[in-house]
Amino acid sequence: MVNQTNTRCDLMLFGALGDLAQRKLFPALYQLERANLLADGSRILAIARSEAGTDEVRNKLLEKLRQHVKPAEFDENIANDFLQRVDYLCLDFADQEGYQVLNEWRDAVNNELIVYMATPPSMYGVIARNMKSSQCCNEHTRVVVEKPIGHDLESSKVINDELGEVYNENQLFRIDHYLGKETVQNLIALRFANNLFASQWDQNHISHVEISVAESVGIEGRWGYFDKAGQIRDMVQNHLLQLLCLIAMDPPADLSADSIRDEKVKVLKALKRITPNMMETHVVRGQYTAGTIMGKPVPGYLEEDGANRGSETETFVALKVEIDNWRWSGVPFYLRTGKRLPEKMSQIIIHFKPAPHYIFDSDQKHLANNKLIIRLQPDEGMALKILTKDQGLDKGMRLRQGPLELTFSETFESDRIPDAYERLLWEVMKGNQYLFVRRDEVEYAWRWVDQVIQNWHDSDEPPKRYASGTWGPVASIAMITRDGRSWY
Ligand code: NDP
Repeated sequence: MVNQTNTRCDLMLFGALGDLAQRKLFPALYQLERANLLADGSRILAIARSEAGTDEVRNKLLEKLRQHVKPAEFDENIANDFLQRVDYLCLDFADQEGYQVLNEWRDAVNNELIVYMATPPSMYGVIARNMKSSQCCNEHTRVVVEKPIGHDLESSKVINDELGEVYNENQLFRIDHYLGKETVQNLIALRFANNLFASQWDQNHISHVEISVAESVGIEGRWGYFDKAGQIRDMVQNHLLQLLCLIAMDPPADLSADSIRDEKVKVLKALKRITPNMMETHVVRGQYTAGTIMGKPVPGYLEEDGANRGSETETFVALKVEIDNWRWSGVPFYLRTGKRLPEKMSQIIIHFKPAPHYIFDSDQKHLANNKLIIRLQPDEGMALKILTKDQGLDKGMRLRQGPLELTFSETFESDRIPDAYERLLWEVMKGNQYLFVRRDEVEYAWRWVDQVIQNWHDSDEPPKRYASGTWGPVASIAMITRDGRSWY
């Protein structure tokens, strides 16, 4: 494949020996190398706190690539060529004087610069200031930062202000890795390239929308981080609200970053506030107890290693979200996400309204809604549930519901589905911000989430327990059945 940037980029990767870098970023960069998308002369400076030499770090990274790249996609020669691009620098990010070395490395190669902060968010401002005072960056530098951007609206403003003191918004690439998933980008293609759907996409034709992001894992040793965050901050403020925005936004004027992000912000601004008296009907918080996942017993949240036994942090949340605008008035968006659910699964279901007059057997009326199922994982694809006549002489006009099915891996067999980080890194190299989150998106999302969290605190109600391996507290089922519906 031809390199499409034609531009040499240098990448400074802060936090290069951390979990994200080793498990996701280096494998993604390796895949870009394998696809011949890294321009000749592009270099990577891995920066971390451990004392080590470049050769030692390259060996360590080779080991990690063997571990995290699929065997069929791993090629030792490509990996070694790729690692020749990598230099290592041991640096305490707070040590301003140490940044002079970055300049020496830069001067030696003088390419376009990308700075990736795969570090705790508390370091973003420190790194930005030190980069600026050491004159290691300029107005063309692109800066990538990871979630979470803050813990609430106020803290996110502090982080955004710190970054904003050094960089312009058009230099900042805030990652929400869900936006890098092919199927998520497909939402834009599905909605705006297929007039069939575009013309049906509103409250006249859609009765409700479900968005589920289920994990079968627990907190995976991340107790310290997770217990302070909880599922609403960790998943809803970013991934689920981003999905909701892509489903609910109006058509952008074009595919430019700001056209898309302007439309997403309009949705976030229109989210109906959940007041204390709506909590009972619109919000369910849960926490998992011991149970069984795929036949294997697993401990409860309060029994995990390092657990604070009195924690009331939620590991599950279900929300009925309403959007106060013309397109979506009266169409609830039911969101649910949780840990230790029966399977790892992310999907969006668009439930269309039934035909205005029903002429078939009345006992089949419950089948009458078409559904569009968009699977983000596993088996990325889409299925449109339509009604057809049941076959057979004795069936009369009995109906049956069947899918028009599109499973990407089967239909487009030769196309490899890239990992989200491959796509995101590639877009940063091209300088395209449309898959990254703008400051106002982050802040409007926090503003909405903060009021739900505030209501929790005010009510003092503990999370509802659910056994691992179930679909969350029964209250989440009650929330949707109260409206005469069910989770798909
Ligand atoms: P880690 O703690 O594994 O890695 C962070 C790295 O930064 C560590 O190598 C750490 O060094 C280094 N570091 C921290 N402070 C300093 C300092 N003052 N000087 C030098 N090095 C420092 O975190 P993750 O890789 O898991 O996460 C990185 C970022 O990505 C975080 O913002 C996280 O929220 C985000 N993220 C992570 C995901 C994941 O799957 N891991 C998923 C989504 C987002 P040391 O090891 O010496 O402490």
